[in-house]
Amino acid sequence: MKSYTELARHDGNNTLFEVVEMAIISMLWNVPLHLHAEGLRGTGKTTIMRAARQIMPPIVRIKNCLYNCDPENPHCPNHRHLSKEELESLGNETVPRPFLEISHSAKIGTIAGSIDLQKITNSANPEAALLPGIIPQAHRGVIFIDEINRLADTSPEITDILLDVMGTKPGRVQIEETGLPVVELPVQVSVWAASNPDEEPGPLQEIRRQLSDRFDLVVEMGRTTNPDAIADILVQSEQRRLGAENIAKRSVDHSARLLKEMALIAKKFESLTMPDFLRNFIARLYVKYNLESFRAIEAIQHAAILHCALRQRDQLLVSDILKVIPLALKHRVDVETLTKIMNSSDSRPSGGDNAPPAMNFSSQNKKKEPETSFSEYEPAINSSLAEVNFEPEPAAVKEDKSFFKPLKQLFTGKQEKPAEETSSNDPVKASPLNKAKRLPDLNLDELVKSEGDFK
Ligand SMILES: [Zn+2]
Repeated sequence: MKSYTELARHDGNNTLFEVVEMAIISMLWNVPLHLHAEGLRGTGKTTIMRAARQIMPPIVRIKNCLYNCDPENPHCPNHRHLSKEELESLGNETVPRPFLEISHSAKIGTIAGSIDLQKITNSANPEAALLPGIIPQAHRGVIFIDEINRLADTSPEITDILLDVMGTKPGRVQIEETGLPVVELPVQVSVWAASNPDEEPGPLQEIRRQLSDRFDLVVEMGRTTNPDAIADILVQSEQRRLGAENIAKRSVDHSARLLKEMALIAKKFESLTMPDFLRNFIARLYVKYNLESFRAIEAIQHAAILHCALRQRDQLLVSDILKVIPLALKHRVDVETLTKIMNSSDSRPSGGDNAPPAMNFSSQNKKKEPETSFSEYEPAINSSLAEVNFEPEPAAVKEDKSFFKPLKQLFTGKQEKPAEETSSNDPVKASPLNKAKRLPDLNLDELVKSEGDFK
């Protein structure tokens, strides 16, 4: 499997990279962020989400606790009633942050929990105990579900469990087994899901609207339309062939560094808050556009703060909100309403910056268009990988990048020379048809030679 930092970022998938990193920061703030990536096959949504576990900081838990009890705040049936001294005697351990998957064939017992067969069949000391399922074992980490639309269609019972897990923050899970008292546990789990809305049984919001609304953010994946990005991917695969070991080692180092950086950012920006004028703006959107889902505007507020933290800024900007509005509303309102919100002139609060929206919603109806246009593609955290200190995002990325750079530049990677100033006195120079050298400037011998070539 490719490492997280080795995956190519481009205009079609960059939003997912950012949102995944925002979710990791949120996890470190103990607030689960539920994500759903929608897109065609081959857009890399599951690859990016699975690879993100490499940049998740580990957790410290009570030694051997399958429920991942936080030593400061134990919640499981075995530890929640213990005294401080008893907890200390058990000791702690650092383990990788859980990243567990739910498959379509999973049974309720596997997901929630079941009787611990090993303990009950122990002839020396038979004991009726619970074995926590995937959800309680993912406490403080991620549950990943591929093709969530299919799961919602074929497993209504598992969907109901997910509704409880995602209904509140933290959520709840019930473990029911015949002969044992029902155990209810708090679970702090971020649910990350992927689906292809063009395949059977269709988009999640049409299969189970309630479950769709539980996702804080929905990211629409696209393929890149940018030749530069495609050329970069080709360069990378060629480099892998030439120096596979070095590349692999370097990218593992990068991922380890990014993991540390995630922890630093989360700590540094933990107390970031939303200024009142921006909060009022979100509240007005809710009323004016009759948004219904309160989760939607909570998601806008929280995600905007995360977006700002990811960019390592101390102050929230209007652009943080405008960037996350489509992600929080795409699955909750119709396209017309969303377009109105993004385009309306009164959806700009006074004060703050005047940054343009991150997504151009006039092109929303063109299905194959990627969500963001290239000129608005700003790498967030990876841009600072080269430097150890917290640098603001480089201004260069905001430059307008023409889709069709001269071929020569594409191949050599050299910078385009600034166009010669055209003189209005010289009709030949001024003519847009004459971008190449004028004939009189060419060496006559060269001309003759090339004529000879044709004979
Ligand atoms: Zn425990």
